[in-house]
Formats: sequence, structure tokens, C-alpha cells
Amino acid sequence: MNDYDVLIVGAGFAGSVCAERLAHAGKRILLIDKRPHIAGNAYDEFDDHGVLIHLYGPHIFHTNGKRRQPAQ
Ligand SMILES: Cc1cc2nc3c(=O)[nH]c(=O)nc-3n(C[C@H](O)[C@H](O)[C@H](O)COP(=O)(O)OP(=O)(O)OC[C@H]3O[C@@H](n4cnc5c(N)ncnc54)[C@H](O)[C@@H]3O)c2cc1C
Repeated sequence: MNDYDVLIVGAGFAGSVCAERLAHAGKRILLIDKRPHIAGNAYDEFDDHGVLIHLYGPHIFHTNGKRRQPAQ
């Protein structure tokens, strides 16, 4: 732990954003998660058939940004 300033447990939105902000502030971060991926409950991946699945339930990313999704 001597190599790090901050230990963050959980690489979901909260932990990942904290890690990014603290790293930009010059802190050395160790970000860990008990799951084998980042993104927490918002994680998604492609299955063997190329279908994007949301492992922990369906997610739509809500944002107050003005950019719209490209037309399908
Ligand atoms: C079914 C479902 C649908 C949702 N749909 C939407 C949606 O459409 N749009 C939207 O904006 N939000 C949605 N949400 C909410 C969104 O998933 C959460 O707001 C967001 O994921 C919370 O992020 P978080 O970092 O707080 O927690 P989490 O995503 O839960 O991340 C916490 C992380 O910490 C890890 N962790 C916990 N304990 C330990 C430990 N002891 N040691 C190591 N690691 C640990 C976990 O493995 C996890 O990866 C949905 C949630 C669910 C459950």
C-alpha cells in the first residue's frame, strides 16, 4: 500500500469517478473490485453470438449532455 495514496474499493461509477478525479489531482490510486471487470452494475459485454448483454439488468445511460445518439 506504500506505493499508493488512496485505496478505492469498487470500480463502479462511484469508485471509477473518484479514482479518475483523484488521479488528475496527482494522487496515486489503487482501484480494486471483487468482480473481474470494471463498471459495477452498469457493466455490459457481448455474448458468444455478438449480442450486447447487460449482466446485472438493463441499463440506459442517462446524461444531461446535449449530444444525441446517432440514428440507427
Ligand atoms: C437492474 C438495474 C438497472 C439499472 N438501470 C439503470 C439505467 O438504466 N440507467 C442508470 O443510469 N442507472 C441504472 N441503474 C443504476 C446504476 O447501475 C447505479 O446507479 C450504478 O451502477 C451505481 O454505481 P456505484 O459505483 O455506486 O455501484 P455499483 O455499480 O454497484 O459498483 C460497486 C462495485 O463495488 C464492488 N464491490 C462491492 N463490495 C466490494 C468489496 N467488498 N470488495 C471489492 N469490490 C466490492 C462491486 O463488485 C461493484 O463492482 C440500474 C441498476 C440496476 C441494479
